[in-house]
Amino acid sequence: MAANILVVEDEPAIQELIAVNLEHAGHHVIRAADADRALSIVRNALPDLLLIDWMLPGTSGVALARQLRQEPRTQQIPIIMLTARAAEQDKVLGLDAGADDYVTKPFSPRELIARIKAVLRRRAPQMTDEPVDSAGLRLEPSTRRVFGNRRPLELGPTEFRLLHFLMTHAERVHSRAQLLDQVWGDHVFVEERTVDVHIRRLRKALEPTGHDRLVETVRGAGYRFSVQPV
Ligand code: CA
Repeated sequence: MAANILVVEDEPAIQELIAVNLEHAGHHVIRAADADRALSIVRNALPDLLLIDWMLPGTSGVALARQLRQEPRTQQIPIIMLTARAAEQDKVLGLDAGADDYVTKPFSPRELIARIKAVLRRRAPQMTDEPVDSAGLRLEPSTRRVFGNRRPLELGPTEFRLLHFLMTHAERVHSRAQLLDQVWGDHVFVEERTVDVHIRRLRKALEPTGHDRLVETVRGAGYRFSVQPV
């Protein structure tokens, strides 16, 4: 389960310690030393998870978390707060600001990685290796294979990621911009019509077993994976 993790921490030694450990665990780390830099990174491409230090110069970590929760584009992004504060009151404040979890310094790298895994499993099911089954369609992240009624289907890497995201967020409508953010990690430099191209390829790949009809176009809004007949 490799995730793009944005680490927002101003102390270079701690930033380095976290980055080394997360990379060792197979994650890709992006670093920011303050909230402004973090926001400009997020504006370009959504990370899979943010690890935010409470005490930052300028805008605090809690204020940054709150700001991310207020914007529709970043509302759902998993956030873990890092802090030296262990007081119950602070913990409540951090969770109120929208953090999914809370890790107190000093922490063991092992604990941090376990917490990240738990939050991703809960908040971003497309990041985990759990197989997904729906209406006879089965997607296996660990083997990167897809089966329709037990028959193997051929999908390209982008179509695989797209289907994984859609299946783990079924029945919800996703705009092209949201899909670019979630599947490509980039809504700025990739054109929206790219999504249409890959949706077309995905449907074609699912056609042999008739599962292409589960990928619905929602006029004027985007796409939806649905097992409920319209
Ligand atoms: Ca700090």
